[in-house]
Amino acid sequence: MLNEKVAELLNIQVNKEFYSAYLYLDFSNYYIGQGLEGFGNWYKIQAQEERDHAMLFMQYLQNNGCKVTLEAIDKPDKELKEFADPLHAGYEHEQVVTGLIHTIYEAAHEVKDFRTMQFLDWFVKEQGEEEANAEGLIRKYELFGSDPRALYMLDSELGARVYSAPSLVL
Ligand code: MG
Repeated sequence: MLNEKVAELLNIQVNKEFYSAYLYLDFSNYYIGQGLEGFGNWYKIQAQEERDHAMLFMQYLQNNGCKVTLEAIDKPDKELKEFADPLHAGYEHEQVVTGLIHTIYEAAHEVKDFRTMQFLDWFVKEQGEEEANAEGLIRKYELFGSDPRALYMLDSELGARVYSAPSLVL
């Protein structure tokens, strides 16, 4: 059995990852409404990845004989007025998620739960990539967003993103 505090934090993370999925679906929905289908596609796939993360946390708890409680998912409440808004909100959100993962890691480290630390290693690395991707999108938008033709190209590029299942298998 896992340490009670560690299990509780992992259970909270299930909810946080589903919230991430919900938030990115909201971004996707916003962009599609604005006619930027490619940005919409990028965030729709991001939402699928977040759902995968939630499922991995759930699976890990189940594999360790822990009870999983599914709580209500918060309503996405980021104000989306301009094309750049989801990009900035997404980057800020990923930084928060990195902090959450680190908090679980610290709790596991404190009780010498090396198995959970090893499980979380994948997420620590993943968060580095998520932050880099989110920052990269902001940079590209700042460079090209004000030129309609360049924005069209960027939208096409983001429209080419395809879903792939997470590399972590439990
Ligand atoms: Mg995630």
